[in-house]
Amino acid sequence: MNLPAPALELLPRDLSAYRAGNTGIPYVHRFASGHPGPHVLVNALTHGNELCGMAAATYLLEQGIRPRIGTLTVSFANVAAYESFDIERPFDSRQLVHNLNRVWSREWLEGGEDSPELRRARELRPVVSEADHILDLHSTSQDVEPFWVYPAFERNAQVALAIGMPAVHLVMPSGLGSGTPVIQHGRHGEAASGAGAALVAECGQHFRQATADTAVAVTLDFLAHFGLIAPRQREQRPPQRRYELLQTYVVRTPGFRFARPVIGFETFARDELVATDAGEELRAPEDCTILMPTREPIPGREGFYLARRLAA
Ligand SMILES: [Zn+2]
Repeated sequence: MNLPAPALELLPRDLSAYRAGNTGIPYVHRFASGHPGPHVLVNALTHGNELCGMAAATYLLEQGIRPRIGTLTVSFANVAAYESFDIERPFDSRQLVHNLNRVWSREWLEGGEDSPELRRARELRPVVSEADHILDLHSTSQDVEPFWVYPAFERNAQVALAIGMPAVHLVMPSGLGSGTPVIQHGRHGEAASGAGAALVAECGQHFRQATADTAVAVTLDFLAHFGLIAPRQREQRPPQRRYELLQTYVVRTPGFRFARPVIGFETFARDELVATDAGEELRAPEDCTILMPTREPIPGREGFYLARRLAA
């Protein structure tokens, strides 16, 4: 498929100044307040072409933001993929080999396979494990409104609802269905673990300035929620909408096609044709909403997510 290239309002910038960090792990920066309080991790670039996280992480570091209580850790995750950015193919730097947001199970982390992403996940494992609360910053290939993604634990919902921006929530009652993301690593993936909140914020389209602005705002609100920084002046927040993940479809063949053009948030009636793949019709299991439809289908990667709208 030859899709039009999106406008690139945001471009990668040189992160070499942030390589050394201060934790012994490249691109990981930690600031302890010296006062009791939660340890909050702000994680950027889990996907190498999702530049908003880079914008938020560099904002925190350049503004010299320091926690009043607890500890703040700022990490740039998949810098290797980020550095592979090619302006002619801006979507390709999402990952080099593995999706860094699907390998956070013990099987992958302790297994025998190797790739730049697996090496980085193994290196970042203590960073993710040690955090009480995790904000993992992402963006979407299509230009849709920002939304949270998180396992359907009360501890996550409570934080996301209290922050209230993004106003849309995609909750996952039984995980992602296509691997283990950063926010479900270890105790953060367990219902009764006593862990803190671990949320993904999808902040808008990868290459838009507004997406970077959203990522900075969400990050500041997340830190303020836990008392690490003073709260921002908050504008009126819109009403919130919640969706529950029903199904994650992983593309099987290059012939995968949607039944109609989609960018995300379109609704499908029960039994309506969503897509075709490998000679099969993929129909909506009930009245549902499509999220994160793939821009270009790649076998083995997610094609779309189907979700059910929940009562407010
Ligand atoms: Zn992502």
